[in-house]
Amino acid sequence: MKIVQSATFKLTLWYLGIIMVLSGLFSFALYSVSYTQLSANAVRQRNAIQRLPLPLNLEPNRQAFTTALDNQLAEDQRYLILQLLVLNLATLLVGGAASYLLSVRTLKPIEDAMEAQGRFTADASHELRTPLTAMRSEIEVALREKQLTSGEARLLLKSNLEEIAKLENLSGGLLRLARFENSLDASEVARIPVRELFEEAIDRHQARLSNRHIELEVAAENEAVTGDRASLVELVSILLDNAIKYSPDKSKVKLSARKSGQIVRISVADQGVGINASDIPFIFHRFYRADRSRSKEVVDGYGLGLSIAKRIVDLHHGDISVDSTPGNGSTFRIKIPANYQFKNSAL
Ligand code: ADP
Repeated sequence: MKIVQSATFKLTLWYLGIIMVLSGLFSFALYSVSYTQLSANAVRQRNAIQRLPLPLNLEPNRQAFTTALDNQLAEDQRYLILQLLVLNLATLLVGGAASYLLSVRTLKPIEDAMEAQGRFTADASHELRTPLTAMRSEIEVALREKQLTSGEARLLLKSNLEEIAKLENLSGGLLRLARFENSLDASEVARIPVRELFEEAIDRHQARLSNRHIELEVAAENEAVTGDRASLVELVSILLDNAIKYSPDKSKVKLSARKSGQIVRISVADQGVGINASDIPFIFHRFYRADRSRSKEVVDGYGLGLSIAKRIVDLHHGDISVDSTPGNGSTFRIKIPANYQFKNSAL
């Protein structure tokens, strides 16, 4: 990605700049200390020579010796500068490589997030286009029909309404996904009895449960969790919705909760179509749907529910997993800390 490449380049320059400034300061300090020592040595030797009592005929030698000392000092100074230059050049090369690697590492999570965002946008656009394309082609065909009967028109409108319902369903899912992208609002965090979460989630699906003659068993005592009520109801509701969606009529769904230690374990078990082992690693990914033909309600769903559920569980510092046998049913299990201390919460 171009933007990441340019950010890597800029960050490399920043890191390298910092390294070179430090190296420059270090070299300057080293130079000052070494040169002071060298010149102090030279001065000491020069003074010693000056003080040496010499016969008059050797006096020019004293002069020559002093000049040699000055030359030696100049030579040492050049050598010192050369060494420091080589050191800085090596720092530039090694520092450049290290800065680049460090920049790549620093920006990797951002690059991954951008890639995921790009994939998500592409998937979402694709899902949005499908119902729109269906509506457009139905309307075009109907418009080409010279003598459209009112019955045909009604059928067309009904079909369009179904596509609109799908779009609403999808945009609702996308909105919920966006809502849970942020962290929890600490002021909303409260102690919530799991039984209440179950009751609110069941309320949302009561009609479908009755229509499909699905028997619901609830087993929850006085367990309570700390968290955001609306999100946790949404979580149970998603799992219950799936349990109903992927189960045959007249089957049984069981919601249960129990506390073990500081963890509340919630499970939603059904006797539905089950999930193939090969699909399980992916079902919590956005837009992932296992083989649709196995489900009763073929159209319902965009593969967003479980990714939202996973996000809600993550926001509550918990864990979600599934056990499933194709043809026999699935059990989704959630573990949530009973008393998680949320930052800034009033609890
Ligand atoms: P959706 O149900 O909208 O397709 P989800 O993210 O909720 O999306 O689920 C992803 C996939 O996981 C579903 O398409 C389905 O194949 C599978 N799945 C989820 N829950 C169940 C369940 N209780 N029984 C069988 N399959 C399930």
